[in-house]
Amino acid sequence: MQDRQMIIVMERNATAEQVRNVERRLTEMGFRTHLSQGVERTIIGAIGDRNSVAMGALEVLSGVERVVPILQPFKLASREFQPHNTVVKVGQAEFGSGRLQVIAGPCAVESREKYLEVARIVADLGATLLRGGAFKPRTSPYSFQGLEEEGLEILAEARQVTGLPVVSEVVDPRLVPVVAEYVDVLQIGARNMQNFFLLREVGKSSRPVILKRGPSATIEEWIMAAEYIISSGNPRVILCERGIRTFETYTRNTLDLSAVPVVKELTHLPIVVDPSHGTGKWRLVEPMSLAAVAAGCDGLMIEVHQNPAEALSDGPQSLNPVNFAHLMRSLARLTRALRDEERAEAAGARGW
Ligand code: PEP
Ligand code: MN
Repeated sequence: MQDRQMIIVMERNATAEQVRNVERRLTEMGFRTHLSQGVERTIIGAIGDRNSVAMGALEVLSGVERVVPILQPFKLASREFQPHNTVVKVGQAEFGSGRLQVIAGPCAVESREKYLEVARIVADLGATLLRGGAFKPRTSPYSFQGLEEEGLEILAEARQVTGLPVVSEVVDPRLVPVVAEYVDVLQIGARNMQNFFLLREVGKSSRPVILKRGPSATIEEWIMAAEYIISSGNPRVILCERGIRTFETYTRNTLDLSAVPVVKELTHLPIVVDPSHGTGKWRLVEPMSLAAVAAGCDGLMIEVHQNPAEALSDGPQSLNPVNFAHLMRSLARLTRALRDEERAEAAGARGW
């Protein structure tokens, strides 16, 4: 696998005929091709028997700027394949364009009344998307399992009321069509990150996908899971770091913030951070949110409940409205400071 892939970067002004010619040559040489038409230039991905003779033969074709071997096992998700950031648009929200998105809401949709109330609260406080689980298979089969399709209907109503797009988890390949009918973004939960049938199924959907990192997954395994979705036809993938399992037991998981710059370096995909599941403790949510933004994430996923003490799931890591309002103010201050700093630097006002 490792030495079978390469990308052919076309010149900026390459013609459609030149692109077709390169694709034809690749097919003749036994490669499978994948075309990526960027704003600035066209890139052709090729999978087959890469060798220096094939690369040399391609390099001399007209319109070809360079031929780059891909060293990573993932291709469509890789930064080498697509140098510019993928921007995933959901309604008014854009992941990957530099504006921070905040996805907020309770762990689970518990009732219509409670969900609509908390949805209004987080929307008023500046959340840009809503979250809420309708299908909640839990560690224990005796815990609350979610409102299922009724929960999806409530999410769709909350979108009507607030105007915000909604995100919800899909846990079974057979449920992808029904969840996609109600929600704007499909979430793949951490425990399902390597459920390859589910990944293929959301790969056939036209909805964007938030792909959570598995609790024991390496960054490479996680990006390979994204590769499954993209190669099945859906390029609108948003990665979500939500903490990994380590020897530390003080926190529920260890939030791996180094994943943010690593993912940015290796891939062109947007990444959000979930400090709620990442720490399991509401007091840690704000500091880790600020750290995640400083590390360069494109968004945050935050669990908020109007009364965390009564939440049916994940109360200890949920912010109440007052704490969420505090977080939103701190985020505004931080993003403003980072922006001002960038401007000052661009104007040459900083000597360091
Ligand atoms: C969730 O976001 O509702 C959830 C269950 O998180 P995770 O899959 O990261 O555990
Ligand atoms: Mn939860």
